Amino acid sequence: MPAKNLDAHLFINGQWQEGSAGKRDNVDPGNGDILGIVSLASASQVDAAIKAADAAFPAWSRTPAVHRGLLLKKVSALLAERVDELANALLLEGGKTKADAYGEAGRAIEAFGWNGEEASRVFGKVHTGIVEGSTRLSVPTALGVAAAITPWNFPAVLIARKLGAALAAGCTAVLKASEFTPYSATVIIRAIVDAGIPAGVVNLVYGDPAAVSEQLLAAPEVKIVSFTGSTHVGKLLAAQAARNLTRCVFELGGHAPVIVWEDADPERVIQVTAPAKFGTAGQSCVAPTRYLVHESLHDKIVQGLVAKAESYQLGHGLEDGTTLGPVAHAGRIAEFKALIEDAVSKGAVIETGGYQVDRPGFFFKPTILSNVPSDAKILFEEPFGPIATVQKVASLEQALEHANAAPYAFAAYLFSDSLRVRNEVVAKLNASNLGINQTAPSLPDVALGGLGNSGYGYEGGSEGVLAYTQLKLINQSAL
Ligand code: NAD
Repeated sequence: MPAKNLDAHLFINGQWQEGSAGKRDNVDPGNGDILGIVSLASASQVDAAIKAADAAFPAWSRTPAVHRGLLLKKVSALLAERVDELANALLLEGGKTKADAYGEAGRAIEAFGWNGEEASRVFGKVHTGIVEGSTRLSVPTALGVAAAITPWNFPAVLIARKLGAALAAGCTAVLKASEFTPYSATVIIRAIVDAGIPAGVVNLVYGDPAAVSEQLLAAPEVKIVSFTGSTHVGKLLAAQAARNLTRCVFELGGHAPVIVWEDADPERVIQVTAPAKFGTAGQSCVAPTRYLVHESLHDKIVQGLVAKAESYQLGHGLEDGTTLGPVAHAGRIAEFKALIEDAVSKGAVIETGGYQVDRPGFFFKPTILSNVPSDAKILFEEPFGPIATVQKVASLEQALEHANAAPYAFAAYLFSDSLRVRNEVVAKLNASNLGINQTAPSLPDVALGGLGNSGYGYEGGSEGVLAYTQLKLINQSAL
């Protein structure tokens, strides 16, 4: 494994630089070690990043799309060559297991590659006009500077999705990456530089998140903000974006229900959902969390989940045999405990787990709660960790009622072979990404976005690239 010197600096107008607002530690959540420092940007450095992106925009947006695409594919190829370095960063600062770290690195590589292909598929339409011989052209036109604000749970793939789509469309960008996982962003920016993407096209800052975001959204040069993170911060940013009517693509929280119908195979339910539940220590917006199980299968599902939860080997990603890593920071554990305490005080039963593991770092024992009452907070607030709840349901109506009770509408799962059940769930379940007898991955080639408190707009697919464009209508008379 490469050395642990994971210092992360700002990258502004083609220059790596230290932050004028000081630095903070880059901490390994798996043991509390200091991995390096994170440079924090001052307001004037954030301003310089915005100005650099704005200055680079005219030339970048005029660069032929096929050439932009080639550069993005080169970023993908360079990251593939450097996959060990990227996976190492994800493992150390992101607390991932080796399998999760390489899995995410692969998805980031794929996202740059796919957006590189998509760059030359961004095209308009020609309609006839209303005057004889005239035409109307509908032309996707790059918006300008994009602000990309990303979280720590999938720091590489979420940066790749945002920068890949923005650059493919012809936008330039200021990336505010998570201060909890800064070096993953550094590895990606180095690949962008080495691929030959010109100075100013992508700029990277870290800092005081609230102050940096406020400044990015107040800047008239910033035409779109793409944010992945919590619903709470998303709402703050939406209010700030309203001032300049800055466009928003918001991928926010999720709290996925899993409806297990009476004809489902319980073993398959566990086999399919457990990796999605406990991968990245449950810190995933598509993690299956609220199991709503037909009463005839309830006990089997609880037993299966408990056995699976207890089978994980908690540890640092560098330790042999680790299958479940730490959570991001101490604050996460305090939130888990509060949610579990609330549920138990209302009658929930801890079937397994429910406590922080006594070892350095931030480890939480995989937890299964049964008999969770409908007013428990954990059913409405995403735990965003290795915790699943199980509720018994007697009818599909009851399952749908529980599933739709949470304010989020992102991923959801159904296990049933009945066409009637599938049709009813598809029609009535408030979800934007439904996995039926399988998982619900976010892949680069198909648009995915949230509803309700899970956000709005799309990432992935042609829609994800077009989000960074304005359709310009040109009404053209005959010559
Ligand atoms: P977060 O909202 O705390 O942070 C996300 C980003 O916003 C980070 O860069 C952070 O520094 C910044 N930020 C934090 N506080 C801010 C503030 N007050 N003002 C402006 N910016 C601020 O989220 P997180 O804890 O890093 O990530 C977890 C969240 O992300 C979960 O809610 C999860 O569901 C969500 N998520 C959603 C998706 C999706 O596709 N829908 C994918 C991954 C994660």
